[in-house]
Amino acid sequence: MTDTREEPDALYERLRAFEGRAAATEGVGKDLVNEPMIRHWCEAMGDTNPAYTGSGAIAPPTMLQAWTMGGLSGHTDRSPAYEELFGLLDGAGYTSVVATDCEQEYLRPLRPGDRITFDAVIESVSARKTTRIGTGYFVTTRMDVRAEGELAGTHRFRILKYAPPARKPESPRGDRRLRPRPVINRDNAGFWQGVAEHRLLIQRCGACGVLRFPWLPGCNACGGREWDTVEASGEGTVFSHVVMHHPPFPAFGTSPEGGPYAVALIELAEGVRMVSNVVGVPYDKVRTGMPVRLEFLRTDPDLELPVFRGGEG
Ligand code: ZN
Repeated sequence: MTDTREEPDALYERLRAFEGRAAATEGVGKDLVNEPMIRHWCEAMGDTNPAYTGSGAIAPPTMLQAWTMGGLSGHTDRSPAYEELFGLLDGAGYTSVVATDCEQEYLRPLRPGDRITFDAVIESVSARKTTRIGTGYFVTTRMDVRAEGELAGTHRFRILKYAPPARKPESPRGDRRLRPRPVINRDNAGFWQGVAEHRLLIQRCGACGVLRFPWLPGCNACGGREWDTVEASGEGTVFSHVVMHHPPFPAFGTSPEGGPYAVALIELAEGVRMVSNVVGVPYDKVRTGMPVRLEFLRTDPDLELPVFRGGEG
């Protein structure tokens, strides 16, 4: 594979210059080390160690990072050096990121009432590495956590900043000249099977007999989960419609660029309504109440869709 990015060693030299620079400074824990957070942590972890309860309790050492977290209301900002390092990697094509591992070291127990402060440094940047997910650089950040100003532990956090794999060629599904594919799942597979056989199937509740469309696992009227189907006669009327102008979409449009097209809500003779297209009538001649009749339109070699042909006049 030809690599046209910046010559790797030159980039590495620039990245290494960030080693030792601050990643975060003067962080302060949002709360003092406290018993409620310790209790919740132990409950969540199922940790019943008696060292974490009662008088003289200490916090579980693995809570180290928890005391530094910003919570939902905000995180400590990255330092300018960290932003610059990420900018350099992004600019060189290493735009993806994945956290790989963390390591902690515990130097002093944390006790309820301790005030937490912390700062972080960009400890190391690896040489360029190729991994199974891509090629890039490991960046290790070391956070020093202090309690009452005394070093209590370190938290090392490593990420891989890597170049995403080359994009696969555009698939037919991404071709805007073709209609987007329907999402077929176990709840609607019967409908699409019917379409393939040129039958428009409506679900009928096995408990109360109410017809429903689109297909759903249960009945909106009674909650019943048993159902069978009835085949629509194909007769219907335009209940409502809109004309789409933007965004242009060649697969739907009335011109190769994707000119305007009518989207109609069709009321079937059986009483249920479905969204579809009206064909055989210019988009600006579709009218509410217009009688329409079901037909099947082949939109690409693998797909047919139910559409409705407008009546004359
Ligand atoms: Zn029902």
